[in-house]
Amino acid sequence: TTQQSARLAADSIPEGRLASPWAADFPILARPVRKRRLSYLDNGATTQKPRAVIQAMEAFYEQSNANIHRGVHWLSQHATDLYEQARERVGTLLNTPDSQDVIFTRGTTESINLVAQTWGQSLQPGDEILVTGMEHHSNIVPWQLLCERTGAVLRHARITDTGELDLDDFRAQLNPRTRLVGLAHVSNALGTVNPVADLVRLAHEAGALVLVDGAQAVAHAPVDVQALDCDFYAFSGHKLYGPTGIGALYVRGSILASLPPWQGGGDMIRTVSFEGSTWASGPQRFEAGTPNIGGSIALGAAIDYVLSIGLDRIAAHEAALLDDATERMRELPGVRLIGTARHKAGILSFLVDGIHPHDLGTILDTEGVAIRAGHHCAMPLMSHFGIPGTARASFALYNDGRDIDALVAGVRKAQKLFG
Ligand code: PLP
Repeated sequence: TTQQSARLAADSIPEGRLASPWAADFPILARPVRKRRLSYLDNGATTQKPRAVIQAMEAFYEQSNANIHRGVHWLSQHATDLYEQARERVGTLLNTPDSQDVIFTRGTTESINLVAQTWGQSLQPGDEILVTGMEHHSNIVPWQLLCERTGAVLRHARITDTGELDLDDFRAQLNPRTRLVGLAHVSNALGTVNPVADLVRLAHEAGALVLVDGAQAVAHAPVDVQALDCDFYAFSGHKLYGPTGIGALYVRGSILASLPPWQGGGDMIRTVSFEGSTWASGPQRFEAGTPNIGGSIALGAAIDYVLSIGLDRIAAHEAALLDDATERMRELPGVRLIGTARHKAGILSFLVDGIHPHDLGTILDTEGVAIRAGHHCAMPLMSHFGIPGTARASFALYNDGRDIDALVAGVRKAQKLFG
């Protein structure tokens, strides 16, 4: 069949340069796409899942499914134990002081909205929130909505032409009215890694709390919230080889203890009466209703998976991919890299003269190369560069030199077609 011949064609491409020892763990990578070997370079959007995660999900529904925190029966206690073990996995991943500092959410977006809607209730007119010019919309819009509700003001610190945070502007914008700083650990559009620990120190000196958007960071390098000293850290499971619909929010313990509840319902209460209800303590206060139990457990499996490899090794592999891809793309005439920060994670944003990023993405797709084209949910950043969007290749632990070869060949093909 065509599928088989495509698979044979894929198999005949030697692994060679920058081979990934982990690619075989990901079943989807064996399927051809458009009769080609799949070069999945859209990891910034979401990552593929290793067999261990798929199996954890299946095992939960086959062996352990029950509702948590409420049943007296064995299976419910078993499911509760697995759910709470998954919380401990997240705590280990982020090196939180206590796993009770971890709230399960649907993902980064929900984590940030949770902070805006609980902690944010204390804002007064004239208070300020400071973000950076490279934020994803999910670290901008929740603050805009909060400012509309409270009369607080949203400010943003400038980005330089290399796509780095302008530290002088950041310092200048911080002031005694700044209540919270929201910043990306890694920019999804450019790959810039922000000097989070330094920025947290500056923010704390000004009396502000710090929320770090770790969506693009946790899968790509070790993260230690105690070393960063941040107050909130948000991430999504699906960008960490886990399922969609599950993520987490770390909250500094002393802050979590005083946060008002968020959504009301079952599981988040201690007692309910028509005279007034009282709230559960710890992360449960923010987990109203039946949570994504299977997803949390599969996220725990994803964390075990990356920790068993070691995030340092993953970071080294992806850094080698980024260096190689950057060099190869720089050699191509007519290609302009957007975001040339000194400290970058495995994300390569670029423009090709005379070719719209969407057209480029479509041509790459015909070659089995999956990239993202557009504004990457960072429209203010695109405006800063005066462009509507970019083409973005983003790497994961399973990518190898063949993916970069396919990307470069696809760009050259597009240039021939449009030339
Ligand atoms: N923040 C950054 C930096 C991201 O890259 C993304 C996802 O693209 C998000 C936030 C939102 O993540 P999610 O859609 O999983 O909530």
